Amino acid sequence: MKELSKEEKEKIIKVLDERGAKLPCPRCGNNNFTLLDGYFNQTIQTEMKGMVIGGPSVPSAVVACSRCGYLSQHALGALGLLPKEEVKK
Ligand SMILES: [Zn+2]
Repeated sequence: MKELSKEEKEKIIKVLDERGAKLPCPRCGNNNFTLLDGYFNQTIQTEMKGMVIGGPSVPSAVVACSRCGYLSQHALGALGLLPKEEVKK
């Protein structure tokens, strides 16, 4: 799996900063975070039983607290970072 490029990571960090996502960790109050080297792409499920694979999903950037490991997910669509053809209606 390819890791995110330095440019991709810098862009995500820049947008998060611009949108004001810079409060301390909500769990432990730490101020140091690491941006994961890849995306989460969780699928949206509408049934409690079973699991649909390949349906709609939410590609997200993930930030981990460097002290307690708390993970924050930021939807790339909301950040304006999805390529046009991947934006869901
Ligand atoms: Zn923390």
